[in-house]
Amino acid sequence: MDIQELAKGVAAGQRRALARAITLVESARADHRAMASDLLEALPKDRQALRIGLSGTPGVGKSTFIESFGMMLTGQGLKVAVLAVDPSSSRSGGSILGDKTRMDRLSRDPNAFIRPSPSQTHLGGVARRSREAVALCEAAGFDVVLIETVGVGQSETVVAEMSDAFLLLLAPAGGDELQGVKRGIMEIADMIIVNKADGDLKPAATRTCADYAGALRLLRKRAQDPEGFPKAVMVSALNEQGLAEVWGDLNALITWRRDNGFWDRTRKEQARYWFGEEVRNRLLAELEAPQVRAVLQALTERVTAGALSPSAAAELFIADLRSKQG
Ligand code: GDP
Repeated sequence: MDIQELAKGVAAGQRRALARAITLVESARADHRAMASDLLEALPKDRQALRIGLSGTPGVGKSTFIESFGMMLTGQGLKVAVLAVDPSSSRSGGSILGDKTRMDRLSRDPNAFIRPSPSQTHLGGVARRSREAVALCEAAGFDVVLIETVGVGQSETVVAEMSDAFLLLLAPAGGDELQGVKRGIMEIADMIIVNKADGDLKPAATRTCADYAGALRLLRKRAQDPEGFPKAVMVSALNEQGLAEVWGDLNALITWRRDNGFWDRTRKEQARYWFGEEVRNRLLAELEAPQVRAVLQALTERVTAGALSPSAAAELFIADLRSKQG
């Protein structure tokens, strides 16, 4: 594979080159990792897309929203990429995120690119692949990158750390309960979007939206938020209502953040965060090496037998690692 050619294809916005490049960054093979690294280095770094994270439990209408919202954006001449971070699909057996068959019109749009979630490993691996796929889409000249995830585990944090704005999609609630949305997720959302505000569900959507607007007002004000954010709004993805307003709100938010230095600051913080994560993940991966495991095994046995204290064993282990680094 000619990496320089592939980089040229991606930079020229060729869809096939982009798809191949994403396949390359998704590979766990050591030689592929090295090539992926060269590829990322060879790409233009001066292009920035608006990265929008989108989370919601299955059934709230993520695919419907992405399709309607995406079609609206491509209709304005924007290029839209859709990626997915899904560390759970193998376990839940649920619907595949970023599934093209669920976004039929958008997947046929020449200005859209949809990539389903890769087959699963641990969250760290999924995060790296997704982050690199986002970078590839930016280098390929996409204006908007939508990163879809489901509300499980830590996937929201992972997506928020690679997004410029984070949207939480909800369905209207039956009663007046706040649907058990975790506080941590409320705290990272820039907008809470109550979907299905149509037909019989409209009154419930209105109530849910008001409840969340109230809950958001109780959160501590974040420095990176202009007046009125984070906010709760209603849409009907099915009837394509409220989507232009969401886009207007997002642009107002992003413009304010750019003008006040937060866009840049957040991206720098994210780069530092991912560097730290990468280092931690690589160090953990080092522990899987056979020689290292053998030492760990031997020390574990001595700890189990009561011959060594856990902290003394850890000391010995670190000393052994350092001596190997020579
Ligand atoms: P996802 O699992 O979050 O991707 O949800 P889907 O987009 O597949 O939608 C789940 C169900 O909700 C489908 O039957 C959709 O037709 C329906 N749905 C999605 N958006 C709306 C909406 O705005 N209004 C109504 N009434 N139904 C919707």
